[in-house]
Amino acid sequence: MPNPDYDLSGRDIIVVGGGGYIGAHVCKTIAERGGRPIVFDNFQAGHEHAVKWGPFVKVDLRDRAAILAAFEQHPNANTVVHLASSIEVGEGEKAPEGFYENNVSGALNLLMAMREVGADRLIFSSTCATYGETQNMPLLESEIQNPFSVYGKTKLAIEHMIQSYHKAYGLNYVTFRYFNASGADASGEIGEEHDPETHLIPNALKAAAGLGQGLKLFGTDYDTPDGTCVRDYIHVNDIAEAHIQAIRVMDGGLTQAEVNLGTGEGYSVLQIIKAIEKVTGLTVPYEAGPRREGDLTQLYADASRARNILDFTPEHSSLENIIATAWNFHRAKWGL
Ligand code: UDP
Repeated sequence: MPNPDYDLSGRDIIVVGGGGYIGAHVCKTIAERGGRPIVFDNFQAGHEHAVKWGPFVKVDLRDRAAILAAFEQHPNANTVVHLASSIEVGEGEKAPEGFYENNVSGALNLLMAMREVGADRLIFSSTCATYGETQNMPLLESEIQNPFSVYGKTKLAIEHMIQSYHKAYGLNYVTFRYFNASGADASGEIGEEHDPETHLIPNALKAAAGLGQGLKLFGTDYDTPDGTCVRDYIHVNDIAEAHIQAIRVMDGGLTQAEVNLGTGEGYSVLQIIKAIEKVTGLTVPYEAGPRREGDLTQLYADASRARNILDFTPEHSSLENIIATAWNFHRAKWGL
């Protein structure tokens, strides 16, 4: 059992990208534990309406002076959760410069500002896409990192910068390698709202609801049991909880860790479609299409390090709960 009641009373925690899907859930969880999440967001992908649990500063990570000024407005925060980045894999392949600028330069500006103001704890959202194509499943954190996509390459570059800051300046950090964030808070007040939406579960729900043109399967010729890609889907509330546990173990003296955040279970695209049909009682209209550039065949976590270091086990991540909570959120959003 993790430590669900870890108390954050009186703590200011900066959440960069707190207007985004995962960020909003992290902010809500921080507030539930008594902390004050302070959102830094440029609201390019995030949403102002998703900032409900503390103040925000509208700031762009590419603007170093503005980031420093934002920190100076909040001198009591020494812990930063960094979730802001460009994430759409296909876009990174087509226009890499924006990814390197936003993700890599942005993170460097953040690290420089943190050092300048003396904020010495960072929780960073990296990705399983840093590992690359391998048959070694489940993925251990020690697996070779040889990312295939521009997205994965930018996240790996940031992992390296953080390690360098740890070594040179004593930055304390937990880097989470997220697997597939999914689901929504049971309240229905926050959920996945990407524009354009590229992720499988919201797109399949949209197709099931009869909105749009049906789901495209990005490749059915992969070397997997049913030919579609396999991924490890973890509920966004579990991801948020892992961040609280990371703060707890850093309070207890942990200075550096790279940690997978997944469930350890892999599901194919077709298995997800079947599960959606079961939970919603609707049919998901789909058709096979070509592979999407940048996608890997299969990715699922060895989740034991999170269990050992953070005392963290996902509790909301059954496929049924992921789909039911996502459906609950989207149905309300689409007025169904
Ligand atoms: N996928 C798909 N159709 C879609 C969206 C995604 O077939 O409209 C596939 C995608 O190729 C991948 C899996 O679903 O194999 C999960 O993709 P998603 O974009 O949700 O997350 P990713 O694994 O890329 O982070």
